[in-house]
Amino acid sequence: MPAASSSTNTVVTRFAPSPTGFVHLGNIRTALFNVLLSGKHGGDFLLRIEDTDQERSKDEFTAALMVDMRWLGLDWAQGPTDDDGKPGEYHQSQRLGLYQEYYDKLEAVGSAYPCFCSAERLAVLRKTQLSAGQPPRYDGICANLSKEEVAKKIAEGQKPTLRFRVPKSEEVTFPDLVRGEQRFNSDDIGDFIIRRGDGTPAFFFTNAVDDGLMNVTHVLRGDDHLTNTPRQLMILNALGIRHPEYGHISLIIGNDGAPLSKRNGSMGIREMRDQGYFPEAVVNYLARLGHYYADNSFMTVEELSAQFDASHLGKAPAHFDMTQLQHWQKEALNAADDDTVWQWLGESVYKHVPADKKALFLKAVKPNISNSEQGVEWATVFFGDELLIEDDAKTAIDEAGSEFYEIATTVFAEEADFKAAIKTIGKQAGKKGKALFWPIRAALTGKVHGPEMSDLALLLGVDEIVARCKRAR
Ligand code: GLU
Repeated sequence: MPAASSSTNTVVTRFAPSPTGFVHLGNIRTALFNVLLSGKHGGDFLLRIEDTDQERSKDEFTAALMVDMRWLGLDWAQGPTDDDGKPGEYHQSQRLGLYQEYYDKLEAVGSAYPCFCSAERLAVLRKTQLSAGQPPRYDGICANLSKEEVAKKIAEGQKPTLRFRVPKSEEVTFPDLVRGEQRFNSDDIGDFIIRRGDGTPAFFFTNAVDDGLMNVTHVLRGDDHLTNTPRQLMILNALGIRHPEYGHISLIIGNDGAPLSKRNGSMGIREMRDQGYFPEAVVNYLARLGHYYADNSFMTVEELSAQFDASHLGKAPAHFDMTQLQHWQKEALNAADDDTVWQWLGESVYKHVPADKKALFLKAVKPNISNSEQGVEWATVFFGDELLIEDDAKTAIDEAGSEFYEIATTVFAEEADFKAAIKTIGKQAGKKGKALFWPIRAALTGKVHGPEMSDLALLLGVDEIVARCKRAR
């Protein structure tokens, strides 16, 4: 049996998903925080697949998760390597023999015992306790069976569960990295099941044992696991295995006010990739969703790591905010080089934009889009056969009147310098500010908002500018 975890000074964090569905923003944020924490200390981040629920776990979910994490740049120093998601040494389903050794060890030291109580008996017990106003707790009927009694029941074909024997009147305390000191009284926790009647392990048992055996030093996870922690600490304590420090983070609240989950239609990472989100945008957004950064600049994973601090994790639920995500998407776009943005825009843009206009197009459009459809929209504005005039642009054109465009057409044709031309038009037409810019913008793009005027002028070129002003007239 491997000895208790060796003590090293390296920070080791982990992400331990159960592959029962496609990973969504909520799960991946947990992974990210663990990546950032280990990154901050130059430690290791480990990926462990908790697939002990044989029925619900699927290799395809593990494979998809690995793709999603790599896409986001959240790589693991230890963990599965096979891209097909097939079980390997970092899958719990491959470690069942090992867990059995620890069950045996607990039984040997009297910290676990077989329990033969039927589900029916336990249901009645629970009901009775609840109606008497008591918290439901196992009453310990099987806690002191003799060896002979146990052997007899097993010989009769009964299939016991294995229960952990909770020490009496002990205070279990731990300093939560997010929530501060936590206290639990062991008497409030009844002896609990660590192995089911069918031999399958309870998740919090294998989870705790593996954290210990894999030398995990810090666990950041959802606060839905907070009540598991005293149980896990007692198990590790009984086994003499070093336990990690835990921090319980608040869940994300979805747009509908309910926690994000695999079931409530929250956005999957795959979906976000398909929608054209940049991985850096997702990472910058998620890092700040429930974690305070004083620095609001767009950062790499390394930079986010350096400024990560578990004490900056919020205790209150974090609200998912689409506008924030869009903000980081724009930041990511602006930070990306032209080739990356061009690739990201795709075929539907290439077919409109002439090759020699690529750089000018990107310069004009990059600050004005957050998805590739918007790129296509601008490509058609500049290079499409027909210019679609939006309602407020039409109003601006009408208000400016034909005389304005008469002037604009002449001036643009004569004055090569766009800025100077605008100035002259303003003077001649007696207009400035919005009354000057909107009608020009409207004539050139069919919209009253969009790229910098000087950028779009370069992109269109004099002939097209003149032609569009004529058309507006
Ligand atoms: N497999 C567990 C889950 O996905 C892990 C919980 C933990 O991080 O400890 O909820």
